[in-house]
Amino acid sequence: MDNSNINDLLAFDREHIWHPYTSMTNPLPVYPIASARGVRLIMENGKELIDGMSSWWAAIHGYNHPVLNAALKKQMEDMSHVMFGGITHRPAIDLAKLLIELTPPGLQKVFLCDSGSISVEVAIKMAIQYWFSTGLPQKNKLLTIRSGYHGDTFMAMSVCDPISGMHGMFKGVLSEHFFADAPESRFGEPWDESDIQSFERLMLAHHETTAAVILEPIVQGAGGMRFYSPEYLKKVRALCDEYNILLILDEIATGFGRTGKLFACEHAGIEPDIMCLGKALTGGYMTLAATLTTEKVSEGISSWGGGQFMHGPTFMGNPLACSVASASIRLLLSSPWKKKIKEIEIQLAEGLASCRKIKGVADVRVLGAIGVVEMENPVNMAGIQKRFVEQGVWIRPFGKLIYLMPPYIITENELGQLIAAIHTVLLSHKR
Ligand code: PMP
Repeated sequence: MDNSNINDLLAFDREHIWHPYTSMTNPLPVYPIASARGVRLIMENGKELIDGMSSWWAAIHGYNHPVLNAALKKQMEDMSHVMFGGITHRPAIDLAKLLIELTPPGLQKVFLCDSGSISVEVAIKMAIQYWFSTGLPQKNKLLTIRSGYHGDTFMAMSVCDPISGMHGMFKGVLSEHFFADAPESRFGEPWDESDIQSFERLMLAHHETTAAVILEPIVQGAGGMRFYSPEYLKKVRALCDEYNILLILDEIATGFGRTGKLFACEHAGIEPDIMCLGKALTGGYMTLAATLTTEKVSEGISSWGGGQFMHGPTFMGNPLACSVASASIRLLLSSPWKKKIKEIEIQLAEGLASCRKIKGVADVRVLGAIGVVEMENPVNMAGIQKRFVEQGVWIRPFGKLIYLMPPYIITENELGQLIAAIHTVLLSHKR
């Protein structure tokens, strides 16, 4: 980009380019970023912003990391892409080995796909194809909980919260599934046995037509940044076993350490039948996702007809994405990530606690490297975003939620600046 005409470029952008969840006629302002390094986003005008978002859970090692850059450059010299139909390659095999090693032991089969939403599509397709192939085709519905978010493609949309989610206008087009009340027992607080009743009732009523339960384990992300009790997950696992239903865990946001465990299901000590990974899988470098499943599911799928699993995107197993993913995972594992997440958690908890006293704040909650300030009312997005940028930080609220999920490499001082910016902006924020 050329500094001299940045205003023209922004005018073009405003006129022609859709951004996530925005209007074409009345778009919110966008901020031009020229480069990114470590935990800093560098704007076209040279101003630096400390990143509190990890580009939506993804950039766990920060930006422009020499190890990840080197992995990509090396792979590019061998091959950037080659079709996966009838071909295999070391980057995919290496990554699949790593994922099988790190995820719960039952997960042995890996499908590499393009994005989080697609990995959810693949997971649901696996579940439905499993029951079809094993002689129970009537089991083709999903059971989930309110306040969930699983992506923007059609099947993924159909398991997002049907009321408060972003897809209400597609009602009638989306396939209909079963929604239990979201758990009220919070993470780290006493478990209330009645919390599982709504889920249990639905399971009892509909297990004969239910293929799978799909949940975000422990943290419900874009549906409300809610942290719920591991007991809930344990009960769900037990009920799935009792009623012969597969359990899909969507670890797209929670995977790779964000909650303090490598995968959030470890808080509950349970294993899913199918697991979705994405976002931080490549350290935020490239789009890549994975759906892992068990031998039981893969054998079931393959027990009918020609035995194929019916999915195969063009960019499946992209070598660049696979090689940067393996490099990112090794980088994470070779770092003291648990200690670091704990330090971030303590600092977030201490630093954000006093926000509770600020007028308009409804709740403050922290888990791992996620800190959330929930307001009583939705914030004025454009206004608050501008104030954060003025404070030299990149924090992007949505609805009533102002939240931090910084790259794990953030220093105490930088995290202190993010927390201070939230205080400053909240104290002066007008809706
Ligand atoms: N599942 C969860 C839990 C997510 O947070 C997201 C992304 N916000 C998705 C699925 C969809 O991933 P993607 O945006 O890569 O399609």
